[in-house]
Amino acid sequence: MNMACEIIAVCNQKGGVGKTTTAVNLAASLAYRNRKVLLIDLDAQGNATTGSGIDKNAFEWGTYHILTGETDIKNTILHSETGHYDIIASNRDLTGIEVQLIHKPAREMCLKTALAEIRENYDYVLIDCPPTLSLLLLNGLAAADSILIPMVCEYYALEGISDLLATIRKVRQTINPKLDILGVVFTMFTTQNKLSQDVSSQLRNHFEQRVFRTTIPRNVRLAEAPSFGMPALAYDDKAKGTQAYLDLADEIMGFKRATSSASYLKKVLM
Ligand code: ADP
Ligand code: MG
Repeated sequence: MNMACEIIAVCNQKGGVGKTTTAVNLAASLAYRNRKVLLIDLDAQGNATTGSGIDKNAFEWGTYHILTGETDIKNTILHSETGHYDIIASNRDLTGIEVQLIHKPAREMCLKTALAEIRENYDYVLIDCPPTLSLLLLNGLAAADSILIPMVCEYYALEGISDLLATIRKVRQTINPKLDILGVVFTMFTTQNKLSQDVSSQLRNHFEQRVFRTTIPRNVRLAEAPSFGMPALAYDDKAKGTQAYLDLADEIMGFKRATSSASYLKKVLM
């Protein structure tokens, strides 16, 4: 097993905070730095699939079929030509998965079990998680080594945190005791705004050193790129947003993967 492989769930129980944008652009940035990357689309909206240049109505095997066990994970791996990473695709079929799995034993562990077979082929596996607490999200959190939390610095971000922390706590008590917090990344950041300054300092107080130094600015190129089926690196490599995701990739690659101090997690997850 490639112990160096890190499986990162990009997760926040709020929608529209930049989970998919972060998953796609971080995948492309890590690939640009010559890391072997697999992106897993775990959201029935299939935005990470489309944003990677894969037609979500035309692929044969995807995340759905891994979870149902219909095929081996190796048959589901596609390649993003625009992002230069591997991807496992999703579409709206995934909405029916809860019903499909209802009688399956250990149904939260399907993704983890499948990934064990291929993780040695990658340096990073990124999982684009759905927003709602569901069997899909639990599969993502059970399979992950750590979670990366994109947050928008607005008042409602603070409200959402307690839900997210409660979920992490519960997952650590049950299906994945080793789940770590990789860090919080601020997305769609605008510096001019007093409120976002206040909120970001509150979040930094809570998560301390686990807030990434890199912040992702609000940048229209990041919003435009998916409509061309591309990560921003392929669409406009000079854009501020593109550069920010490269910086985030560098920061993540620079981590010495020490196990999280138990006292840190205890405090944050309190
Ligand atoms: P989530 O996956 O959490 O629902 P998305 O990544 O889909 O969030 O982002 C929500 C919307 O905001 C999308 O339309 C996306 O293009 C846009 N967006 C995300 N990050 C940025 C950014 N840094 N600058 C501008 N637009 C962004
Ligand atoms: Mg999304």
